[in-house]
Amino acid sequence: MKKIGLLLGLTLLVGCSAPSAQLKLSSDKENNRASSVSKSPTVSIPFKTRAQASQIEKMGADILEVQPGYLVAIVSPKVTRLLKEKGFTTTPVQVGNGQRNVFDKGYHTYASMVEELKSTVAKYPSICQLVDIGDSWEKTRGQADRDIWALKITGPSKGQKPNILFDANHHAREIVTTELAMKLISYLTTGYEKDAQVKNWVDTREIWIIPMNNPDGHIKAEKGLDWRKNTDSALSNDASFPPYGTGVDLNRNYPFHWGESASDNPSDPTFQGPGAFSEPETQAVRELFKQKKFAVSLFLHSYSNLVLYPWGYSADPTKDDARFAAVARKMASYNNYTPMPESQLYVCSGGSDDWAYGEMGAFSMTIEVGGRKDGFDPPYASMDRFWKENLPSFQLLLKIAHDPWKEKI
Ligand SMILES: [Zn+2]
Repeated sequence: MKKIGLLLGLTLLVGCSAPSAQLKLSSDKENNRASSVSKSPTVSIPFKTRAQASQIEKMGADILEVQPGYLVAIVSPKVTRLLKEKGFTTTPVQVGNGQRNVFDKGYHTYASMVEELKSTVAKYPSICQLVDIGDSWEKTRGQADRDIWALKITGPSKGQKPNILFDANHHAREIVTTELAMKLISYLTTGYEKDAQVKNWVDTREIWIIPMNNPDGHIKAEKGLDWRKNTDSALSNDASFPPYGTGVDLNRNYPFHWGESASDNPSDPTFQGPGAFSEPETQAVRELFKQKKFAVSLFLHSYSNLVLYPWGYSADPTKDDARFAAVARKMASYNNYTPMPESQLYVCSGGSDDWAYGEMGAFSMTIEVGGRKDGFDPPYASMDRFWKENLPSFQLLLKIAHDPWKEKI
Protein backbone atom coordinates (compact mmCIF):
# COMPACT_ATOMS: atom_id res chain seq x y z
CA MET A 1 0.00 0.00 0.00
CA LYS A 2 2.74 2.35 0.92
CA LYS A 3 4.28 1.90 -2.50
CA ILE A 4 1.02 2.71 -4.27
CA GLY A 5 0.64 5.90 -2.22
CA LEU A 6 4.11 7.00 -3.18
CA LEU A 7 3.47 6.33 -6.86
CA LEU A 8 0.27 8.38 -6.77
CA GLY A 9 2.14 11.21 -5.08
CA LEU A 10 4.77 11.15 -7.78
CA THR A 11 2.21 11.26 -10.55
CA LEU A 12 0.79 14.39 -8.97
CA LEU A 13 4.21 15.90 -8.57
CA VAL A 14 5.25 15.49 -12.18
CA GLY A 15 1.82 16.59 -13.40
CA CYS A 16 1.63 16.87 -17.17
CA SER A 17 5.35 16.63 -17.81
CA ALA A 18 6.80 14.38 -20.47
CA PRO A 19 6.95 10.60 -19.91
CA SER A 20 10.74 10.76 -19.71
CA ALA A 21 10.46 13.03 -16.67
CA GLN A 22 8.19 10.50 -14.96
CA LEU A 23 10.67 7.80 -15.78
CA LYS A 24 13.44 9.91 -14.31
CA LEU A 25 11.64 10.14 -10.99
CA SER A 26 11.08 6.43 -10.78
CA SER A 27 14.26 5.31 -9.02
CA ASP A 28 14.23 4.83 -5.25
CA LYS A 29 16.70 7.65 -4.83
CA GLU A 30 14.46 10.01 -6.73
CA ASN A 31 11.43 8.86 -4.75
CA ASN A 32 13.22 9.82 -1.56
CA ARG A 33 14.09 13.14 -3.05
CA ALA A 34 10.55 13.85 -4.16
CA SER A 35 9.10 13.05 -0.77
CA SER A 36 11.62 15.29 1.01
CA VAL A 37 10.82 18.14 -1.39
CA SER A 38 7.29 18.22 -0.03
CA LYS A 39 8.64 18.24 3.53
CA SER A 40 10.83 21.24 2.73
CA PRO A 41 8.66 23.57 0.68
CA THR A 42 9.63 26.75 -1.11
CA VAL A 43 7.90 29.65 0.61
CA SER A 44 7.67 33.41 0.67
CA ILE A 45 8.46 35.01 4.05
CA PRO A 46 7.60 38.67 4.68
CA PHE A 47 9.98 40.72 6.83
CA LYS A 48 9.98 44.32 8.04
CA THR A 49 13.64 45.10 8.66
CA ARG A 50 16.99 44.06 7.24
CA ALA A 51 17.82 42.67 10.66
CA GLN A 52 14.86 40.32 10.35
CA ALA A 53 16.04 39.12 6.94
CA SER A 54 19.48 38.39 8.40
CA GLN A 55 17.76 36.59 11.27
CA ILE A 56 15.87 34.37 8.79
CA GLU A 57 19.12 33.53 7.00
CA LYS A 58 20.78 32.65 10.30
CA MET A 59 17.92 30.31 11.20
CA GLY A 60 19.09 28.16 8.30
CA ALA A 61 16.55 29.09 5.61
CA ASP A 62 17.91 28.34 2.14
CA ILE A 63 17.33 31.77 0.64
CA LEU A 64 16.70 31.74 -3.10
CA GLU A 65 15.69 35.33 -3.61
CA VAL A 66 15.40 38.51 -1.57
CA GLN A 67 13.09 41.34 -2.50
CA PRO A 68 12.20 44.50 -0.61
CA GLY A 69 9.91 43.31 2.19
CA TYR A 70 10.01 39.57 1.61
CA LEU A 71 12.25 36.71 0.67
CA VAL A 72 11.78 33.34 -0.96
CA ALA A 73 13.42 30.33 0.66
CA ILE A 74 13.40 26.57 0.92
CA VAL A 75 12.59 25.76 4.52
CA SER A 76 13.19 22.49 6.31
CA PRO A 77 10.72 21.39 9.02
CA LYS A 78 13.17 22.67 11.64
CA VAL A 79 13.40 26.11 10.02
CA THR A 80 9.62 26.25 9.63
CA ARG A 81 9.29 25.62 13.36
CA LEU A 82 11.85 28.32 14.22
CA LEU A 83 10.14 30.83 11.92
CA LYS A 84 6.79 30.15 13.54
CA GLU A 85 8.27 30.57 17.01
CA LYS A 86 9.61 34.00 16.03
CA GLY A 87 6.29 35.08 14.53
CA PHE A 88 7.18 34.87 10.82
CA THR A 89 4.58 33.64 8.34
CA THR A 90 5.23 31.45 5.31
CA THR A 91 3.26 31.16 2.07
CA PRO A 92 4.10 28.51 -0.55
CA VAL A 93 5.34 29.95 -3.87
CA GLN A 94 6.38 28.43 -7.14
CA VAL A 95 9.90 28.97 -8.43
CA GLY A 96 10.77 28.06 -12.02
CA ASN A 97 8.50 25.32 -13.28
CA GLY A 98 7.83 24.11 -9.75
CA GLN A 99 10.08 21.08 -10.04
CA ARG A 100 13.48 21.08 -8.45
CA ASN A 101 16.58 20.96 -10.60
CA VAL A 102 16.23 18.80 -13.73
CA PHE A 103 19.46 19.94 -15.45
CA ASP A 104 18.47 20.40 -19.07
CA LYS A 105 20.96 18.60 -21.31
CA GLY A 106 21.83 21.89 -23.04
CA TYR A 107 23.86 22.96 -20.00
CA HIS A 108 27.57 22.28 -19.74
CA THR A 109 28.73 19.60 -17.39
CA TYR A 110 32.12 20.05 -15.76
CA ALA A 111 33.56 17.63 -18.32
CA SER A 112 31.99 19.29 -21.37
CA MET A 113 33.07 22.71 -20.10
CA VAL A 114 36.71 21.57 -19.81
CA GLU A 115 36.50 20.03 -23.27
CA GLU A 116 35.14 23.24 -24.77
CA LEU A 117 37.75 25.39 -23.02
CA LYS A 118 40.50 23.17 -24.41
CA SER A 119 39.09 23.24 -27.93
CA THR A 120 38.73 27.03 -27.72
CA VAL A 121 42.42 27.35 -26.86
CA ALA A 122 43.31 24.97 -29.69
CA LYS A 123 41.31 27.10 -32.10
CA TYR A 124 42.47 30.51 -30.87
CA PRO A 125 45.98 29.90 -29.49
CA SER A 126 47.18 33.44 -30.18
CA ILE A 127 44.61 35.03 -27.87
CA CYS A 128 43.67 32.29 -25.36
CA GLN A 129 45.44 30.60 -22.51
CA LEU A 130 43.84 28.06 -20.20
CA VAL A 131 45.08 28.31 -16.63
CA ASP A 132 44.53 25.88 -13.78
CA ILE A 133 44.06 28.26 -10.86
CA GLY A 134 43.51 25.67 -8.14
CA ASP A 135 41.94 22.45 -7.01
CA SER A 136 38.38 21.81 -5.95
CA TRP A 137 37.85 20.73 -2.34
CA GLU A 138 37.31 17.11 -3.39
CA LYS A 139 40.59 17.14 -5.30
CA THR A 140 42.45 18.41 -2.25
CA ARG A 141 41.10 15.35 -0.41
CA GLY A 142 41.93 12.90 -3.18
CA GLN A 143 38.24 12.22 -3.82
CA ALA A 144 38.02 13.61 -7.37
CA ASP A 145 40.20 15.17 -10.02
CA ARG A 146 38.66 18.57 -10.66
CA ASP A 147 40.56 21.78 -11.23
CA ILE A 148 39.25 25.30 -11.25
CA TRP A 149 39.90 26.65 -14.71
CA ALA A 150 40.31 30.21 -15.86
CA LEU A 151 40.58 31.27 -19.47
CA LYS A 152 42.77 34.27 -20.21
CA ILE A 153 41.83 36.10 -23.38
CA THR A 154 44.09 38.85 -24.67
CA GLY A 155 45.70 39.90 -27.94
CA PRO A 156 49.40 39.27 -28.62
CA SER A 157 50.45 42.91 -28.22
CA LYS A 158 52.44 43.75 -25.09
CA GLY A 159 52.10 46.89 -23.03
CA GLN A 160 50.06 47.99 -20.06
CA LYS A 161 46.65 46.33 -20.08
CA PRO A 162 44.02 46.48 -17.36
CA ASN A 163 42.91 43.09 -16.06
CA ILE A 164 39.22 42.29 -15.85
CA LEU A 165 37.63 39.21 -14.28
CA PHE A 166 34.30 37.56 -15.04
CA ASP A 167 33.55 34.86 -12.48
CA ALA A 168 30.64 32.40 -12.47
CA ASN A 169 29.17 29.63 -10.37
CA HIS A 170 30.31 30.31 -6.81
CA HIS A 171 26.94 28.77 -5.98
CA ALA A 172 26.56 25.32 -7.48
CA ARG A 173 22.93 25.32 -8.61
CA GLU A 174 23.24 28.72 -10.31
CA ILE A 175 24.06 26.92 -13.51
CA VAL A 176 22.98 29.66 -15.91
CA THR A 177 26.01 31.68 -14.80
CA THR A 178 28.46 29.11 -16.21
CA GLU A 179 26.59 29.28 -19.49
CA LEU A 180 26.83 33.07 -19.63
CA ALA A 181 30.57 32.84 -19.01
CA MET A 182 30.94 30.26 -21.79
CA LYS A 183 28.91 32.46 -24.13
CA LEU A 184 31.15 35.39 -23.27
CA ILE A 185 34.20 33.28 -24.16
CA SER A 186 32.63 32.39 -27.48
CA TYR A 187 31.65 36.03 -28.13
CA LEU A 188 35.18 37.30 -27.49
CA THR A 189 37.02 34.58 -29.42
CA THR A 190 34.79 34.35 -32.47
CA GLY A 191 34.36 38.13 -32.46
CA TYR A 192 38.11 38.77 -32.45
CA GLU A 193 38.36 38.20 -36.18
CA LYS A 194 35.15 39.81 -37.33
CA ASP A 195 34.18 42.55 -34.88
CA ALA A 196 36.51 45.57 -34.61
CA GLN A 197 35.18 46.53 -31.17
CA VAL A 198 35.73 43.04 -29.75
CA LYS A 199 39.22 42.93 -31.30
CA ASN A 200 40.03 46.25 -29.66
CA TRP A 201 38.86 45.08 -26.23
CA VAL A 202 40.76 41.80 -26.50
CA ASP A 203 43.93 43.57 -27.71
CA THR A 204 43.91 46.27 -25.06
CA ARG A 205 42.64 44.36 -22.01
CA GLU A 206 43.56 41.12 -20.29
CA ILE A 207 40.25 39.36 -19.83
CA TRP A 208 39.98 36.47 -17.36
CA ILE A 209 36.94 34.23 -17.22
CA ILE A 210 36.26 31.59 -14.56
CA PRO A 211 33.18 29.75 -15.85
CA MET A 212 32.85 27.29 -12.95
CA ASN A 213 34.31 28.38 -9.63
CA ASN A 214 32.65 25.51 -7.75
CA PRO A 215 33.10 22.36 -9.86
CA ASP A 216 32.32 19.85 -7.08
CA GLY A 217 29.06 21.64 -6.36
CA HIS A 218 28.25 21.88 -10.07
CA ILE A 219 28.56 18.10 -10.31
CA LYS A 220 25.82 17.88 -7.65
CA ALA A 221 23.64 20.23 -9.70
CA GLU A 222 24.31 18.09 -12.79
CA LYS A 223 22.78 15.19 -10.87
CA GLY A 224 19.64 17.22 -10.30
CA LEU A 225 20.40 18.27 -6.74
CA ASP A 226 19.52 21.74 -5.51
CA TRP A 227 23.05 22.32 -4.21
CA ARG A 228 24.40 25.73 -3.19
CA LYS A 229 27.69 25.35 -1.31
CA ASN A 230 30.90 23.50 -2.14
CA THR A 231 31.09 19.89 -0.96
CA ASP A 232 33.49 20.32 1.97
CA SER A 233 32.28 17.67 4.40
CA ALA A 234 34.92 18.24 7.08
CA LEU A 235 32.52 19.99 9.44
CA SER A 236 29.11 18.90 8.25
CA ASN A 237 28.24 15.78 6.39
CA ASP A 238 24.51 16.20 6.54
CA ALA A 239 23.49 15.68 2.92
CA SER A 240 19.76 15.45 3.64
CA PHE A 241 17.58 17.24 1.13
CA PRO A 242 16.99 20.11 1.22
CA PRO A 243 18.84 22.20 2.05
CA TYR A 244 22.06 20.28 1.86
CA GLY A 245 24.02 20.73 5.06
CA THR A 246 27.35 19.64 3.63
CA GLY A 247 29.69 22.36 2.45
CA VAL A 248 30.76 25.95 2.88
CA ASP A 249 29.00 28.91 1.26
CA LEU A 250 31.84 30.22 -0.89
CA ASN A 251 30.22 33.64 -1.05
CA ARG A 252 30.44 34.01 2.73
CA ASN A 253 34.04 32.77 2.90
CA TYR A 254 35.94 35.93 1.83
CA PRO A 255 37.91 37.72 4.56
CA PHE A 256 36.61 41.27 4.38
CA HIS A 257 34.67 41.58 7.67
CA TRP A 258 34.36 37.80 7.63
CA GLY A 259 32.32 36.33 10.44
CA GLU A 260 30.39 39.49 11.28
CA SER A 261 27.08 38.63 9.72
CA ALA A 262 26.85 35.11 8.33
CA SER A 263 26.08 31.68 9.69
CA ASP A 264 28.62 29.81 11.81
CA ASN A 265 26.50 26.65 11.78
CA PRO A 266 28.13 24.13 9.38
CA SER A 267 24.75 22.68 8.39
CA ASP A 268 23.30 26.02 7.29
CA PRO A 269 23.01 26.89 3.58
CA THR A 270 25.06 30.04 4.19
CA PHE A 271 27.76 28.57 6.45
CA GLN A 272 30.72 30.94 6.23
CA GLY A 273 33.35 28.24 6.81
CA PRO A 274 35.65 27.69 9.81
CA GLY A 275 37.78 30.69 8.81
CA ALA A 276 38.15 33.24 6.03
CA PHE A 277 39.54 31.68 2.84
CA SER A 278 39.20 28.23 4.38
CA GLU A 279 38.15 26.75 1.02
CA PRO A 280 40.35 25.97 -1.99
CA GLU A 281 37.72 27.48 -4.31
CA THR A 282 38.03 30.93 -2.70
CA GLN A 283 41.79 30.56 -2.27
CA ALA A 284 42.03 30.10 -6.05
CA VAL A 285 40.30 33.45 -6.58
CA ARG A 286 42.57 35.06 -3.97
CA GLU A 287 45.75 33.84 -5.70
CA LEU A 288 44.59 34.97 -9.13
CA PHE A 289 43.57 38.37 -7.74
CA LYS A 290 46.93 38.78 -6.01
CA GLN A 291 48.72 38.11 -9.29
CA LYS A 292 46.50 40.04 -11.64
CA LYS A 293 45.28 42.93 -9.46
CA PHE A 294 42.02 43.14 -11.35
CA ALA A 295 40.75 46.62 -12.13
CA VAL A 296 37.24 45.27 -12.60
CA SER A 297 35.52 42.09 -11.43
CA LEU A 298 32.02 40.82 -12.05
CA PHE A 299 30.57 37.90 -10.12
CA LEU A 300 27.62 36.13 -11.71
CA HIS A 301 24.88 34.63 -9.58
CA SER A 302 21.25 33.69 -10.10
CA TYR A 303 18.41 34.43 -9.63
CA SER A 304 16.64 37.70 -8.65
CA ASN A 305 17.05 40.12 -11.58
CA LEU A 306 19.41 42.34 -9.61
CA VAL A 307 22.53 44.40 -10.24
CA LEU A 308 24.40 44.56 -6.93
CA TYR A 309 27.40 46.43 -5.60
CA PRO A 310 29.22 46.82 -2.25
CA TRP A 311 28.77 46.87 0.62
CA GLY A 312 27.23 43.60 1.63
CA TYR A 313 28.52 43.57 5.21
CA SER A 314 27.29 47.05 6.13
CA ALA A 315 24.30 49.24 5.38
CA ASP A 316 26.63 52.27 5.10
CA PRO A 317 27.43 53.44 1.57
CA THR A 318 30.95 52.99 0.19
CA LYS A 319 32.96 56.12 -0.59
CA ASP A 320 32.37 55.25 -4.25
CA ASP A 321 28.63 54.82 -3.89
CA ALA A 322 27.72 57.43 -6.51
CA ARG A 323 29.91 55.76 -9.13
CA PHE A 324 28.75 52.23 -8.31
CA ALA A 325 25.14 53.40 -8.41
CA ALA A 326 25.62 55.14 -11.76
CA VAL A 327 27.20 52.08 -13.41
CA ALA A 328 24.59 49.78 -11.85
CA ARG A 329 21.78 52.02 -13.11
CA LYS A 330 23.30 51.95 -16.57
CA MET A 331 23.42 48.15 -16.49
CA ALA A 332 19.85 48.05 -15.22
CA SER A 333 18.82 50.20 -18.16
CA TYR A 334 19.99 47.34 -20.40
CA ASN A 335 18.72 44.30 -18.53
CA ASN A 336 15.79 45.85 -16.69
CA TYR A 337 17.04 44.42 -13.39
CA THR A 338 16.96 46.37 -10.12
CA PRO A 339 20.21 48.11 -9.12
CA MET A 340 21.13 48.38 -5.42
CA PRO A 341 23.88 47.89 -2.85
CA GLU A 342 23.96 44.30 -1.63
CA SER A 343 23.15 45.32 1.94
CA GLN A 344 19.96 47.05 0.90
CA LEU A 345 18.26 43.67 0.92
CA TYR A 346 19.93 42.37 4.03
CA VAL A 347 23.36 42.62 5.57
CA CYS A 348 25.71 39.68 5.12
CA SER A 349 29.47 39.39 5.35
CA GLY A 350 32.15 37.38 3.59
CA GLY A 351 30.99 38.10 0.02
CA SER A 352 33.38 38.25 -2.93
CA ASP A 353 32.44 41.81 -3.93
CA ASP A 354 33.21 43.27 -0.51
CA TRP A 355 36.65 41.68 -0.54
CA ALA A 356 37.42 42.43 -4.20
CA TYR A 357 36.52 46.07 -3.68
CA GLY A 358 37.28 46.66 -0.01
CA GLU A 359 40.59 44.84 0.15
CA MET A 360 41.79 44.51 -3.43
CA GLY A 361 40.53 47.83 -4.77
CA ALA A 362 38.66 46.41 -7.77
CA PHE A 363 35.54 47.91 -9.23
CA SER A 364 33.49 44.87 -8.29
CA MET A 365 29.86 44.06 -8.91
CA THR A 366 27.44 41.14 -8.96
CA ILE A 367 24.60 40.35 -11.33
CA GLU A 368 21.80 38.04 -10.19
CA VAL A 369 20.59 36.62 -13.49
CA GLY A 370 16.97 35.78 -14.18
CA GLY A 371 13.71 35.97 -12.27
CA ARG A 372 11.55 33.70 -10.15
CA LYS A 373 9.87 32.22 -13.19
CA ASP A 374 13.33 31.09 -14.28
CA GLY A 375 14.52 29.86 -10.90
CA PHE A 376 17.89 28.09 -10.86
CA ASP A 377 17.14 25.59 -13.54
CA PRO A 378 15.33 27.16 -16.48
CA PRO A 379 15.17 25.33 -19.83
CA TYR A 380 18.40 25.89 -21.71
CA ALA A 381 16.43 27.80 -24.33
CA SER A 382 16.21 30.68 -21.82
CA MET A 383 19.93 31.29 -22.24
CA ASP A 384 19.36 33.37 -25.38
CA ARG A 385 17.32 35.83 -23.36
CA PHE A 386 19.82 35.94 -20.48
CA TRP A 387 22.64 36.51 -22.93
CA LYS A 388 20.86 39.29 -24.80
CA GLU A 389 19.86 41.09 -21.63
CA ASN A 390 23.31 40.83 -19.99
CA LEU A 391 25.80 41.21 -22.85
CA PRO A 392 25.51 45.04 -22.79
CA SER A 393 26.55 45.03 -19.10
CA PHE A 394 29.58 42.87 -19.90
CA GLN A 395 30.43 45.26 -22.73
CA LEU A 396 30.10 48.24 -20.42
CA LEU A 397 32.60 46.76 -17.96
CA LEU A 398 35.00 45.94 -20.80
CA LYS A 399 34.63 49.50 -22.01
CA ILE A 400 35.44 51.14 -18.66
CA ALA A 401 38.22 48.70 -17.64
CA HIS A 402 40.97 51.28 -18.19
CA ASP A 403 39.43 53.68 -15.71
CA PRO A 404 36.39 52.09 -14.06
CA TRP A 405 36.07 54.89 -11.51
CA LYS A 406 35.87 57.78 -13.96
CA GLU A 407 35.44 56.64 -17.56
CA LYS A 408 32.34 58.13 -19.12
CA ILE A 409 29.45 55.70 -19.31
ZN1 LIG B 1 24.56 32.91 -5.70
